[in-house]
Amino acid sequence: METIYRKINPQEIDMSVIEEASKILKRGDMVAFPTETVYGLGADALNEDASRKIYAAKGRPSDNPLIVHVSNTEQVKRVVKEIPEAAKKLMDAFWPGPLTIIFNKADVVPNGTTGGLNTVAVRMPSHEVARTLIEYSDVLIAAPSANTSGRPSPTTAKHVMDDLNGKISMVIDGGEVGIGIESTIVDVTSDIPTILRPGFINKRMLEEVIGHVEVDKAIIGRPDPALKPKAPGMKYKHYAPKADFTIYEGDKDSVAEKINEIAREYINKGYKVGIIASDESVDKYHYGEVVSIGSRADELSISKSLYKVLRSFDDMKVDYILGESFESDELGPAIMNRMLKAAGYQVIHT
Ligand code: AMP
Ligand code: MG
Repeated sequence: METIYRKINPQEIDMSVIEEASKILKRGDMVAFPTETVYGLGADALNEDASRKIYAAKGRPSDNPLIVHVSNTEQVKRVVKEIPEAAKKLMDAFWPGPLTIIFNKADVVPNGTTGGLNTVAVRMPSHEVARTLIEYSDVLIAAPSANTSGRPSPTTAKHVMDDLNGKISMVIDGGEVGIGIESTIVDVTSDIPTILRPGFINKRMLEEVIGHVEVDKAIIGRPDPALKPKAPGMKYKHYAPKADFTIYEGDKDSVAEKINEIAREYINKGYKVGIIASDESVDKYHYGEVVSIGSRADELSISKSLYKVLRSFDDMKVDYILGESFESDELGPAIMNRMLKAAGYQVIHT
């Protein structure tokens, strides 16, 4: 299949591109488009054949449900049984934006979209291109990240083309995304709202709006085989770069010293090494391919670059990645959740 590639300026949307994409969605085919989190691979959420195509193109396990993207509240009502009070507050506070809410699903939503669950995940993205496409086509768009399953999520249209060129009908290039990691997922179907996946909207922000919020125990720390994550996708080794990735934590100087020592050792053995530094520390590293992931003073610069940096190490064909760790109260849990998965939970305390 020939993949149509179209550039679009989010500030001045060319409606002929939206029209072309909308026709593809309506006939049950796939279009990749930018959202504020990562690029999404979209298809008609209420058409079971269309959502099946998403699983095939991504190589996604069929029990991993899709998020339904909407552009207004009327569309939410079409796919859910009821909107609980907590969800109303969250929708008012954070939509449009990077928050996915789990509801009990209405019968019209096919099992193919929800991986057989009785619940449905819904998000109203704020990205102008995503909003315009959903609003104009009036298609409720099921859209997981537009990458091959297991690869880092795409934050540019080039990443999408690298993974899916020839497998989907169209890619809309709206430039690099702003947040760079997937949406926060919160489940409001239980008595106490629960975070199923950390993201830009953090626990503190949610609690300011709806009071006490729990975090799914299965996603805290190293995966415990006895606990099953409530978001089925969280059990997969996602976001993985090709190289062997280890995170080093501890005080900044000892981390740099340790990474330099290990990097030199690997390089002497003939391996290629990539190092994940920050703007504040990049000058401390003397060996290998040193990449700054962003500034610790601007956490969004880190989340925005994370997947791009991991993909760039794939392109450079490094054998080992040695990375600093990025704990903090705000975006830290979301960033570390992705980094730890990418590293297969290999962490060294210095
Ligand atoms: P992606 O769109 O690729 O970021 O993946 C969607 C994420 O949402 C996966 O982790 C899914 O397991 C999760 N998800 C989608 N629908 C549901 C649902 N009904 N209940 C719990 N998690 C869900
Ligand atoms: Mg994904």
